Amino acid sequence: MKPRDLARVCDRILQTKKFKDYPGARNGLQVGHGRSVEKIGWAVDADLESIRWAGKAGVDFLVVHHGIFWGESVLDRKIRARRVREAKRLGVAIYSSHLPLDAHPEIGNSTGLVRALGLDRAKRKPFGVAMGRRIGWKVEGGRWKRSGLVRRCEGGKVRRFGGVKVIQGGPAVCRKIGIVTGGFGDLDQVKKAGLDTLVTGEVDYPTEVKARELGINLILAGHYETETFGVQALADQLRAVVGDQWSEDGWQRTETGGQMAEGGDQG
Ligand SMILES: [Zn+2]
Repeated sequence: MKPRDLARVCDRILQTKKFKDYPGARNGLQVGHGRSVEKIGWAVDADLESIRWAGKAGVDFLVVHHGIFWGESVLDRKIRARRVREAKRLGVAIYSSHLPLDAHPEIGNSTGLVRALGLDRAKRKPFGVAMGRRIGWKVEGGRWKRSGLVRRCEGGKVRRFGGVKVIQGGPAVCRKIGIVTGGFGDLDQVKKAGLDTLVTGEVDYPTEVKARELGINLILAGHYETETFGVQALADQLRAVVGDQWSEDGWQRTETGGQMAEGGDQG
């Protein structure tokens, strides 16, 4: 199967057409090639390091969450040109999916984070609007210790190299929890939904200050760390489509730089 055809499979799984996204997202095939895909890999970011890892690992179809079109400055364009050059040279096709991959109810990032937090059996409803669609979840109908949720993030379920940041603005026992991966800092939505806790990747400093004042807990588990779920799950599904037998499959960022991850060992 050629990258173009495999990208169509991805778009079908993710229902890409139904999503508006930020201009930099450009969901779909961003770099292609004319050969049949043999090995599928994943990375959260389509940065130079991930592209080089893919080339070295023989990955010819790389699934990413943050593609190469973010930013329009002169420097951004330079960086982009270099990434494209390197991907072409190494024969790595790049397929990127942003909001569709956050939102997907089974393989999406937010669902992955819900599972990692051990909240997948609790009652949940879609929450967290970005570009007109809900991309996360709100979980309620139980009582969960804030410290327990933080431990889940720290304990390897959500791999974190810089530590989980906690703003203890709300109660120590959480009853209504918003879960949206990446950099979701819309406290208006959190407040309106009556949530006492938001689990996300990161927010800016003024949002941390506001959260304290509004009585909301923030559990900030890392932008990268909360967004490894979707790319892995999509890569797994695609592997079945092309009959890829490889077990090493992903570029895992670590404190000292990247490393190739063993298949099925994260999440
Ligand atoms: Zn993100």
